[in-house]
Amino acid sequence: MTLRAFRGEILSVAHDPRDRADAVRHEPDGMLVVEDGIVVARGSHADLAGRYGQVPVEHMRGLVVPGFVDAHVHYPQMDSIAAHGAQLLDWLDRHIFPAERAFVERAHADAVAAAFLDELLRNGTTSALVFATVHAQSVDALFEAAQRRAMRILSGKVLMDLGPQGLADTPLSARTESEALIRRWHGRGRLGYAVTPRFALTSSDDQLSTAGALLAAHPDVLLHTHLAENVRECAAVAERFPDASDYLDVYDRFGLVGAYSVFAHGVHLSDRACSRLHDRGAGLAVCPSSNLFLGSGFFDFGQADSRKVRLGLGSDVGAGTSFSMLRTAGFAYQAALARGESLDPFRALFLATAGSAALLHIDDRVGSLEPGQEADFVVLDCAATPLLARRTAGRDLAERLFALQILGDDRAIARTYVLGECAWHRDTPIRSAMMHLEK
Ligand SMILES: [Zn+2]
Repeated sequence: MTLRAFRGEILSVAHDPRDRADAVRHEPDGMLVVEDGIVVARGSHADLAGRYGQVPVEHMRGLVVPGFVDAHVHYPQMDSIAAHGAQLLDWLDRHIFPAERAFVERAHADAVAAAFLDELLRNGTTSALVFATVHAQSVDALFEAAQRRAMRILSGKVLMDLGPQGLADTPLSARTESEALIRRWHGRGRLGYAVTPRFALTSSDDQLSTAGALLAAHPDVLLHTHLAENVRECAAVAERFPDASDYLDVYDRFGLVGAYSVFAHGVHLSDRACSRLHDRGAGLAVCPSSNLFLGSGFFDFGQADSRKVRLGLGSDVGAGTSFSMLRTAGFAYQAALARGESLDPFRALFLATAGSAALLHIDDRVGSLEPGQEADFVVLDCAATPLLARRTAGRDLAERLFALQILGDDRAIARTYVLGECAWHRDTPIRSAMMHLEK
């Protein structure tokens, strides 16, 4: 049993500030007490110092926030980030499918999984819902690397029996391989499984039914897929499924829309689809940098909020242009404003932490640094660059937070803690103990 304390400015947003006046919790001189990786007390230093006076204290210079939760990201695409010149369907053919074929080699998957998780930690992301590839071993590689870092990661084998040569499975192999992976990984340590059809166009009706059957057999496993991202994609879906009332209805017909369903994007949704998402308790991973990069459009926060759709935030690398959830929050602000909505910086932080955690059904464990939660947190440096330092000096919390979201990125992540242990330290050339295990 080890008790440790962390002292500094602490901020979390456990609920959507649009719904609750007490959503924002802020201690200018706060204290976080951690026992065996779990937060056991949090409050002002003045209140807690007496009770925990004997506990060794680490001083946190910067703004302490919960570890970021990336609700949609593709690890096999990290080396295809910044690929020039195409919208979604052409971009997949030209850049992504060739890159994903390489994951047939386990050694390649291991190397990319390690680099990917280290990049998440460098960016302050401690939990994520991750696309692997169609190859079952790509999931093993990611989960084993996550286990070594004690990170909370959810993932699954991609289902795509209509995929291109070298990336197509079958409804039968999709089922047997997914079942085996669920048995091997779901609920093991901090890991969880997600049934992951790539999107409606890459799976046969048979395989979409298989996905529905997997979810019915494993009700606490997530469904993770893409929805209404790009105009050409939506037209192709409408053409293949002429009887469906909209894109979401395609998934609905195969039993894929429920409280554990996470749909990436949702840029082009009907009002009916938004209402249906709300009624089923399903949610959207908003991916604004990706939507801008692929020319997909701007997410409609007004439409989603009017139907009270549950939202989280995703980097969607490799279509996304940054692993940083700070930067992704900044892109979300700009996407919202393009459609006439103003995204509050505290709400953006909520979406990048507790909001995404709720979408992934891990909000009882992470996302708001409340007592009982796992001690995953980040120390943000408001003076990470000369410009950030000028813009934030002497400013109030909302202004500093917004400046971090617009001007900040991995440079603003001074340290990342996983279960109370330092997993990334920007200013120390020696890599953390957890990362050493990889070598
Ligand atoms: Zn994606």
